[in-house]
Amino acid sequence: MAEIELRGLVKEYPGGVRAVDGLDLTVADGEFFALLGPSGCGKTTLLRSIAGLETVTSGHIEIGGRDVTRLAPGARDIAMVFQDYALFPHMTVRDNIAYPLRIKKMGKPERHAKAEETAEGLSLGALLDRRPGQLSGGQQQRAALARAVAVRPQVFLFDEPLSNLDARLRLEARTFLKRLQRELGVTTVFVTHDQAEALAMSDRMAVMDAGRIRQIGTPTEVFQRPTSTFVASFIGSTPMNLLDSVVDRDTLRVAGVTLPLPASARPHVSDGEQLVFAARPEYMSFRAEPEPTGLEGVVAIVENMGVGSLVSLEVAGPADVTRIVQVTVPEGQEPEIGSRGWAVPAPERVLLYRRDDGELVGSARSDATDPVLAAARN
Ligand code: ATP
Repeated sequence: MAEIELRGLVKEYPGGVRAVDGLDLTVADGEFFALLGPSGCGKTTLLRSIAGLETVTSGHIEIGGRDVTRLAPGARDIAMVFQDYALFPHMTVRDNIAYPLRIKKMGKPERHAKAEETAEGLSLGALLDRRPGQLSGGQQQRAALARAVAVRPQVFLFDEPLSNLDARLRLEARTFLKRLQRELGVTTVFVTHDQAEALAMSDRMAVMDAGRIRQIGTPTEVFQRPTSTFVASFIGSTPMNLLDSVVDRDTLRVAGVTLPLPASARPHVSDGEQLVFAARPEYMSFRAEPEPTGLEGVVAIVENMGVGSLVSLEVAGPADVTRIVQVTVPEGQEPEIGSRGWAVPAPERVLLYRRDDGELVGSARSDATDPVLAAARN
């Protein structure tokens, strides 16, 4: 068992920066867990604290039921891969991979055999006698992973290990890493600022902001049900449409259209209350003909996304302020720039947030007992 338990974790740097600000988190045994968030939110500090590279100010860290809060990195049974790979330039790939085993006092023939076996599994067999300077970026990354994997630790900690790779290699490495983690079943915490990477790779993820966790969930939960406008605007390769709206008894007025107010939101909002109406471009459809539940606008931009396009509609908002609403359209159905169009939200996908604190108050899919909603309200 290698569950990771963080309780009341605080890391304050000299000068008063609270990079980790009272954080509780449990990563289950064998789980692939992503830490996601904007630059400076504390992801790396949190990972380095788990690794023991930072001394925490207060709180507790347990790995596999053992309190490791005050243990040195080497005593925590973890393996790390950082952005720069940190391979030893003067050592061959074989010696780099075998190095942690040497530290563990494994005999030379045995550790070389182990290094070779691991390298083989990562298609590095032909490169064992090269030095890091003679490898491509992707090969260096695999060598760093091989070094981490050869030890068979209880926990892997990865800090943006794919960030130096080009788009194609990155996709390959993503698949590889996910498969490897699944095969080995090693508890893994993975830092990234790339939401697509977190969605694609993790079993669960945490979205961080200013040293705290804003939401924890599976990629599907976080993508479909962000519990705050902060998370909503951070997740998704096309930004969530967030529009001012106002409650009008059992309806909601948004960009000149009257829509039904989701039942789950009714007990929690009052007549005349200002809300934020949210719908993903992928959960809206484009119509060229008038549609009573569609937000009407003029097509300003059409962006090719490979499969399909992203259409930006200029929609008249309150006080004649123009707002952009984005909607995806299937390939071959792109409208003309300058034409009129209606962006129709799928009612079951609409989310509503409070204007003042940006927290989720309701969605058409949820009822009053919805756990995601209950968590957001607490
Ligand atoms: P990025 O995605 O840019 O790497 P991050 O989410 O990993 O960011 P951290 O590197 O953990 O963020 O930094 C969190 C906060 O702590 C930031 O405000 C940063 O400026 C501050 N910080 C990091 N290291 C130190 C340090 N050694 N001394 C003082 N402040 C620091």
